[in-house]
Amino acid sequence: MSLIAENLSIIKQSIPENVTLVAVSKTKPISDLQKAYDVGQRVFGENKIQEMVEKYNALPKDIKWHMIGHLQSNKVKYMAHFVDLIHGVDTFKTLQEINKQAKKHNRIIHCLLQAKIAKEETKFGLSFNEIETILASSETLALKNIKIVGFMGMATFTDNQEQLQEEFSSLKSLFDKLKATYSSLKILSMGMSGDYILAISEGSTMIRVGSSIFGNRNYNY
Ligand SMILES: *Cc1c(COP(=O)(O)O)cnc(C)c1O
Repeated sequence: MSLIAENLSIIKQSIPENVTLVAVSKTKPISDLQKAYDVGQRVFGENKIQEMVEKYNALPKDIKWHMIGHLQSNKVKYMAHFVDLIHGVDTFKTLQEINKQAKKHNRIIHCLLQAKIAKEETKFGLSFNEIETILASSETLALKNIKIVGFMGMATFTDNQEQLQEEFSSLKSLFDKLKATYSSLKILSMGMSGDYILAISEGSTMIRVGSSIFGNRNYNY
């Protein structure tokens, strides 16, 4: 058994069945993704559209491709025909662009709104107020080729368990509150290699795990 297969098996045993494992394969070669595929992994996450398109073209077509990175609007068109879920939507303008490109392919693309939960300074993510505004807006309702199915959050890069727990639980509270009004909200994407156990205990339904499956990334490749 490959190391990748072993890692996957260990992680799967440690998470509940109702939690979806997104294998984050950014920067990793096709052969690594194939190893994960061969032991049954079907959901992969990438953060660059061009890299995802190349891997989509090379690999079996029953893979579900998740875009987890920050989106450049002008590149949405390259993945609109196949992307399964877009995690990192943090502007209304991006929703409009996804809608426009989805329409060309006669698809409804599922999206998660990215919430800013980390205390550290980050450029990305919506405030909880902005999320409520987008969901309530008639302009959003008019976008017939996208569906907002949940939220994504990235916690602060820290070992402080109390802080992580607070950040995850704040988004879970918002999710529960808004789910009562918006029945399409089903997915809460929280948790990465370092914090997925905690994220699941705080209510995550989808974890995005990279290095614990594929090993550390080398960005100088
Ligand atoms: C890279 C990445 C992950 C996975 O990170 P690991 O620590 O390697 O598990 C998860 N989510 C997002 C948004 C990422 O960019």
